[in-house]
Amino acid sequence: MYNSKDNSIISIIIATQNKGKTEEIREYLKGFPVDIKNLDDFGPIPPVIEDGDTFDENAYKKSSHTARIIGLPALADDSGLVVEALGNAPGVYSARYAGDNATDEQLCEKLLKEMDGENNRKASFECVISIAVPTGPALTYEARCDGLIAEKPSGQNGFGYDPVFYYPELDKTFAEISMEEKSRVSHRGRALRELAEEFEKVLVWIRQNMPIDEKFECKR
Ligand code: IMP
Repeated sequence: MYNSKDNSIISIIIATQNKGKTEEIREYLKGFPVDIKNLDDFGPIPPVIEDGDTFDENAYKKSSHTARIIGLPALADDSGLVVEALGNAPGVYSARYAGDNATDEQLCEKLLKEMDGENNRKASFECVISIAVPTGPALTYEARCDGLIAEKPSGQNGFGYDPVFYYPELDKTFAEISMEEKSRVSHRGRALRELAEEFEKVLVWIRQNMPIDEKFECKR
Protein backbone atom coordinates (compact mmCIF):
# COMPACT_ATOMS: atom_id res chain seq x y z
CA MET A 1 0.00 0.00 0.00
CA TYR A 2 1.01 3.60 -0.56
CA ASN A 3 3.58 4.71 2.02
CA SER A 4 5.42 7.76 0.69
CA LYS A 5 6.34 10.73 2.90
CA ASP A 6 4.78 13.29 0.54
CA ASN A 7 1.04 12.69 0.70
CA SER A 8 -0.17 15.84 -1.07
CA ILE A 9 -2.85 14.99 -3.62
CA ILE A 10 -1.77 14.93 -7.27
CA SER A 11 -4.40 15.61 -9.95
CA ILE A 12 -4.12 13.30 -12.94
CA ILE A 13 -6.24 13.67 -16.03
CA ILE A 14 -7.27 10.60 -18.02
CA ALA A 15 -7.18 11.55 -21.70
CA THR A 16 -10.58 10.11 -22.54
CA GLN A 17 -14.27 10.97 -22.36
CA ASN A 18 -15.13 7.33 -21.84
CA LYS A 19 -16.65 7.06 -18.33
CA GLY A 20 -16.13 3.27 -18.17
CA LYS A 21 -12.41 3.61 -18.83
CA THR A 22 -12.08 6.40 -16.24
CA GLU A 23 -13.88 4.30 -13.60
CA GLU A 24 -11.70 1.25 -14.34
CA ILE A 25 -8.53 3.30 -13.91
CA ARG A 26 -9.92 4.95 -10.74
CA GLU A 27 -10.58 1.48 -9.31
CA TYR A 28 -6.98 0.34 -9.93
CA LEU A 29 -5.51 3.53 -8.40
CA LYS A 30 -7.72 3.83 -5.33
CA GLY A 31 -5.70 4.15 -2.13
CA PHE A 32 -3.15 6.45 -3.76
CA PRO A 33 -3.18 10.23 -3.12
CA VAL A 34 -4.54 11.11 -6.56
CA ASP A 35 -7.54 13.03 -7.82
CA ILE A 36 -8.54 11.33 -11.09
CA LYS A 37 -10.26 13.58 -13.63
CA ASN A 38 -11.15 13.06 -17.27
CA LEU A 39 -11.65 15.34 -20.28
CA ASP A 40 -15.29 15.96 -19.30
CA ASP A 41 -14.03 17.87 -16.23
CA PHE A 42 -12.52 20.52 -18.52
CA GLY A 43 -13.75 22.66 -21.38
CA PRO A 44 -13.22 21.29 -24.92
CA ILE A 45 -9.57 21.02 -25.93
CA PRO A 46 -8.23 20.73 -29.51
CA PRO A 47 -8.42 17.10 -30.62
CA VAL A 48 -5.24 15.08 -31.01
CA ILE A 49 -4.55 13.44 -34.39
CA GLU A 50 -3.94 9.74 -33.70
CA ASP A 51 -1.80 9.11 -36.77
CA GLY A 52 1.06 7.13 -35.16
CA ASP A 53 2.21 3.80 -36.62
CA THR A 54 2.30 2.10 -33.22
CA PHE A 55 0.19 1.92 -30.05
CA ASP A 56 3.15 3.51 -28.23
CA GLU A 57 3.18 6.55 -30.49
CA ASN A 58 -0.56 7.11 -30.27
CA ALA A 59 -0.67 6.67 -26.48
CA TYR A 60 2.14 9.23 -26.11
CA LYS A 61 0.51 11.65 -28.55
CA LYS A 62 -2.68 11.58 -26.46
CA SER A 63 -1.01 11.84 -23.03
CA SER A 64 1.52 14.56 -23.93
CA HIS A 65 -1.00 16.65 -25.89
CA THR A 66 -3.46 16.58 -22.99
CA ALA A 67 -0.80 17.26 -20.33
CA ARG A 68 0.60 20.20 -22.31
CA ILE A 69 -2.75 21.84 -22.94
CA ILE A 70 -4.24 21.36 -19.47
CA GLY A 71 -1.02 21.70 -17.48
CA LEU A 72 -1.53 18.54 -15.42
CA PRO A 73 -0.02 15.04 -15.61
CA ALA A 74 -2.09 13.03 -18.09
CA LEU A 75 -2.62 9.30 -18.61
CA ALA A 76 -3.71 7.85 -21.97
CA ASP A 77 -4.05 4.35 -23.33
CA ASP A 78 -4.07 3.00 -26.84
CA SER A 79 -5.01 -0.53 -27.68
CA GLY A 80 -6.09 -2.80 -30.47
CA LEU A 81 -6.07 -6.21 -32.07
CA VAL A 82 -3.03 -7.65 -33.88
CA VAL A 83 -3.60 -10.66 -36.15
CA GLU A 84 -0.55 -12.65 -37.29
CA ALA A 85 -1.97 -13.94 -40.60
CA LEU A 86 -3.02 -10.40 -41.59
CA GLY A 87 0.49 -8.96 -41.18
CA ASN A 88 -0.46 -7.56 -37.74
CA ALA A 89 -3.58 -5.75 -39.02
CA PRO A 90 -5.86 -4.19 -37.90
CA GLY A 91 -3.37 -2.86 -35.27
CA VAL A 92 -3.60 0.90 -34.81
CA TYR A 93 -6.55 0.88 -37.24
CA SER A 94 -8.60 -1.46 -35.02
CA ALA A 95 -11.38 1.07 -34.35
CA ARG A 96 -11.63 2.13 -38.03
CA TYR A 97 -11.03 -1.28 -39.68
CA ALA A 98 -14.52 -1.41 -41.20
CA GLY A 99 -14.88 2.34 -41.87
CA ASP A 100 -15.23 5.41 -39.68
CA ASN A 101 -18.74 4.80 -38.34
CA ALA A 102 -18.82 1.01 -38.40
CA THR A 103 -20.54 -0.85 -35.56
CA ASP A 104 -18.77 -3.49 -33.45
CA GLU A 105 -20.75 -6.12 -35.38
CA GLN A 106 -19.40 -4.81 -38.69
CA LEU A 107 -15.84 -4.84 -37.29
CA CYS A 108 -16.16 -8.53 -36.37
CA GLU A 109 -17.80 -9.36 -39.73
CA LYS A 110 -14.98 -7.68 -41.68
CA LEU A 111 -12.32 -9.50 -39.64
CA LEU A 112 -13.99 -12.90 -40.13
CA LYS A 113 -14.23 -12.24 -43.87
CA GLU A 114 -10.51 -11.42 -44.07
CA MET A 115 -9.73 -14.59 -42.08
CA ASP A 116 -11.96 -16.84 -44.19
CA GLY A 117 -10.08 -20.09 -45.00
CA GLU A 118 -7.03 -19.01 -42.96
CA ASN A 119 -5.56 -21.74 -40.73
CA ASN A 120 -3.26 -19.50 -38.68
CA ARG A 121 -5.77 -17.91 -36.26
CA LYS A 122 -3.17 -16.46 -33.82
CA ALA A 123 -3.98 -12.96 -32.54
CA SER A 124 -3.34 -10.73 -29.58
CA PHE A 125 -4.83 -7.68 -27.96
CA GLU A 126 -2.17 -5.11 -27.08
CA CYS A 127 -2.37 -2.13 -24.76
CA VAL A 128 0.03 0.73 -24.10
CA ILE A 129 -0.47 3.19 -21.24
CA SER A 130 1.46 6.46 -21.32
CA ILE A 131 1.73 8.96 -18.45
CA ALA A 132 3.11 12.34 -19.46
CA VAL A 133 3.91 15.57 -17.65
CA PRO A 134 3.31 18.95 -19.36
CA THR A 135 7.00 19.43 -20.28
CA GLY A 136 7.05 16.24 -22.40
CA PRO A 137 8.69 13.35 -20.50
CA ALA A 138 6.54 10.23 -20.16
CA LEU A 139 6.46 6.74 -18.68
CA THR A 140 5.12 3.78 -20.66
CA TYR A 141 3.46 0.50 -19.62
CA GLU A 142 2.69 -2.24 -22.14
CA ALA A 143 0.85 -5.54 -21.99
CA ARG A 144 -0.66 -8.11 -24.33
CA CYS A 145 -3.09 -10.97 -24.24
CA ASP A 146 -2.71 -13.88 -26.68
CA GLY A 147 -5.62 -15.74 -28.21
CA LEU A 148 -7.13 -17.00 -31.46
CA ILE A 149 -9.64 -15.59 -33.92
CA ALA A 150 -12.79 -17.72 -33.66
CA GLU A 151 -14.58 -19.06 -36.74
CA LYS A 152 -17.78 -17.20 -35.77
CA PRO A 153 -18.88 -14.61 -33.18
CA SER A 154 -20.09 -15.83 -29.85
CA GLY A 155 -21.21 -14.14 -26.59
CA GLN A 156 -22.92 -10.85 -25.73
CA ASN A 157 -20.54 -9.15 -23.28
CA GLY A 158 -17.77 -6.65 -23.85
CA PHE A 159 -17.23 -4.56 -26.98
CA GLY A 160 -15.23 -4.36 -30.22
CA TYR A 161 -13.68 -7.67 -31.26
CA ASP A 162 -14.59 -9.51 -28.03
CA PRO A 163 -17.09 -11.91 -29.69
CA VAL A 164 -14.43 -13.21 -32.11
CA PHE A 165 -11.46 -13.24 -29.72
CA TYR A 166 -11.21 -16.80 -28.36
CA TYR A 167 -9.16 -17.16 -25.17
CA PRO A 168 -7.95 -20.81 -24.99
CA GLU A 169 -7.19 -20.85 -21.23
CA LEU A 170 -10.86 -20.23 -20.44
CA ASP A 171 -12.17 -22.01 -23.55
CA LYS A 172 -14.41 -18.97 -24.22
CA THR A 173 -14.46 -15.80 -26.27
CA PHE A 174 -13.98 -12.49 -24.43
CA ALA A 175 -17.69 -11.81 -25.04
CA GLU A 176 -18.60 -14.97 -23.08
CA ILE A 177 -16.78 -14.01 -19.86
CA SER A 178 -17.67 -11.44 -17.17
CA MET A 179 -16.03 -8.01 -16.97
CA GLU A 180 -14.14 -9.12 -13.83
CA GLU A 181 -12.78 -12.25 -15.55
CA LYS A 182 -11.78 -10.21 -18.59
CA SER A 183 -10.02 -7.60 -16.47
CA ARG A 184 -7.97 -10.39 -14.83
CA VAL A 185 -6.50 -11.62 -18.13
CA SER A 186 -6.91 -8.81 -20.67
CA HIS A 187 -4.23 -6.58 -22.15
CA ARG A 188 -5.71 -3.48 -20.43
CA GLY A 189 -6.14 -5.24 -17.06
CA ARG A 190 -2.55 -6.47 -17.13
CA ALA A 191 -1.14 -3.05 -18.09
CA LEU A 192 -3.21 -1.34 -15.39
CA ARG A 193 -2.11 -3.85 -12.72
CA GLU A 194 1.52 -3.30 -13.66
CA LEU A 195 0.97 0.45 -13.43
CA ALA A 196 -0.76 0.11 -10.02
CA GLU A 197 2.09 -2.07 -8.70
CA GLU A 198 4.61 0.66 -9.58
CA PHE A 199 2.40 3.64 -8.87
CA GLU A 200 4.27 4.74 -5.76
CA LYS A 201 7.38 5.25 -7.93
CA VAL A 202 5.25 6.89 -10.64
CA LEU A 203 4.05 9.50 -8.13
CA VAL A 204 7.65 10.27 -7.09
CA TRP A 205 8.55 10.62 -10.79
CA ILE A 206 5.59 12.97 -11.41
CA ARG A 207 6.55 15.15 -8.42
CA GLN A 208 10.13 15.37 -9.72
CA ASN A 209 9.09 16.20 -13.28
CA MET A 210 6.24 18.66 -12.79
CA PRO A 211 7.23 22.28 -13.51
CA ILE A 212 7.83 24.22 -10.29
CA ASP A 213 5.28 26.97 -9.55
CA GLU A 214 7.29 30.18 -9.57
CA LYS A 215 5.81 33.10 -7.66
CA PHE A 216 6.25 36.42 -9.47
CA GLU A 217 6.18 39.74 -7.71
CA CYS A 218 5.42 42.79 -9.83
CA LYS A 219 7.73 45.63 -8.84
CA ARG A 220 6.63 49.15 -9.66
P1 IMP B 1 -8.99 2.05 -27.75
O1 IMP B 1 -7.52 2.19 -27.79
O2 IMP B 1 -9.47 1.65 -26.41
O3 IMP B 1 -9.71 3.22 -28.32
O4 IMP B 1 -9.36 0.83 -28.69
C1 IMP B 1 -9.22 0.85 -30.11
C2 IMP B 1 -10.04 -0.25 -30.73
O5 IMP B 1 -9.42 -1.51 -30.48
C3 IMP B 1 -11.45 -0.37 -30.15
O6 IMP B 1 -12.33 0.46 -30.84
C4 IMP B 1 -11.76 -1.84 -30.38
O7 IMP B 1 -12.21 -2.04 -31.68
C5 IMP B 1 -10.40 -2.50 -30.23
N1 IMP B 1 -10.23 -2.98 -28.84
C6 IMP B 1 -9.38 -2.48 -27.90
N2 IMP B 1 -9.49 -3.15 -26.74
C7 IMP B 1 -10.44 -4.10 -26.95
C8 IMP B 1 -11.02 -5.10 -26.11
O8 IMP B 1 -10.70 -5.27 -24.92
N3 IMP B 1 -11.97 -5.87 -26.69
C9 IMP B 1 -12.35 -5.73 -27.97
N4 IMP B 1 -11.87 -4.81 -28.79
C10 IMP B 1 -10.90 -3.99 -28.29
